[in-house]
Amino acid sequence: MKIIRTSVELNHWFNEHNIQINKSLGLVPTMGALHQGHASLIENASKECDLVVVSILVNPTQFNAKDDLDAYPRTMDADAEIAKAAGCNVIFAPTAEDLYGGKPKAEHMDWGSITHSFEGKCRPGHFDGVIAVVDKLFGVIKPNKAYFGAKDLQQVAVVQKMAQIRHPNIEIVSCGLIRDSKGLALSSRNIRLTNQGLKRALKLSFALSNVVENTSAGTSIKTAVDTARKELQESEGIDLEYFNGVNCQTFSPDDEPFDWSHIVVAANVDGVRLIDNIEIEVVG
Ligand code: AMP
Repeated sequence: MKIIRTSVELNHWFNEHNIQINKSLGLVPTMGALHQGHASLIENASKECDLVVVSILVNPTQFNAKDDLDAYPRTMDADAEIAKAAGCNVIFAPTAEDLYGGKPKAEHMDWGSITHSFEGKCRPGHFDGVIAVVDKLFGVIKPNKAYFGAKDLQQVAVVQKMAQIRHPNIEIVSCGLIRDSKGLALSSRNIRLTNQGLKRALKLSFALSNVVENTSAGTSIKTAVDTARKELQESEGIDLEYFNGVNCQTFSPDDEPFDWSHIVVAANVDGVRLIDNIEIEVVG
C-alpha cells in the first residue's frame, strides 16, 4: 500500500501506472481515525474495484465549531494498518491547502431540505464543507465509484445530489451502518467518550431499536417516535438535538409518517456529538 500526500504526486502516480485508463477505481473518503465502519467501506470497494484509494483529511470546511475540529482524533499510523488490512491500495492524505489549492473554503449550497434540515440545520455550513471536499476529491481522483456509509444518512443524500449535478459518471455506493457488539454505532468520536459517556451513548441505539420493536408490536410509528424522543430528552447526560422519522431521499421535516424510511437521531452525549439512524420497515 502506498501513501501519497499531494494531489500532484497522486496524479503523477496514476499516470505512471495508467490507473485511470486501465483500472476501475474506488474511492473511500474519510477523515481518518479509522474503525471497522470505515473498514467495511474499504472491503466493499476492494470487492468491486481494481484499485482502492482511501482519502484521509480532517476537512476544516465541514466543521462549524473550532473546538470540534481541534479535538478530532488524528491517528495516521493505526489508520494505515486498518486501511491496508481492509484492501486499500493507496492512502491519499493531502493537507487541506493542497487539496483546495489554497485557503480551504466552501461555497454555500441550498438544495432545500437535504442541505438545510436536521444535520444542515444543527450544523450550519456543514454540508457546504462536505460538498466542497468531496467535489475536490472527485476532481483529483476521478473514481468510478465512491463509497459512503449509511451511518451519515443525510450525507449520502447530499453527495448523491452533488454527484448527479457535477460528476454524473461517478457511482455513489451507500454501505450499511456498522455497530459494536452492544449496538453503539461506530464513530471516530467514540474514543472521546468516558465509560459513563459510552453507557449513555448506548441509549441512542436502544431508543432507535425500541421504535422498531414497538411498531412491530402494533404501536403507531408516530407514537413510538414521540415516546422514545421524550425518554431521551429526559435522560441525564444526553442533550438531544433531534429524534425524528425521515424519508432518506428528501429529509423534509414535513414528511408524513407513511413517507418515513428511517428514524434519525443526533445528540451531544457528555459533550461529544453523535448521530445514528435505523431503517424502518413497518409504518402506520
Ligand atoms: P468519517 O471519517 O467519519 O468522515 O467517515 C468516513 C466514511 O465512513 C463516511 O462515509 C461515513 O458514513 C462512514 N462511516 C463512519 N462510521 C461508520 C459506521 N459505523 N458504519 C458505516 N460507515 C461508517
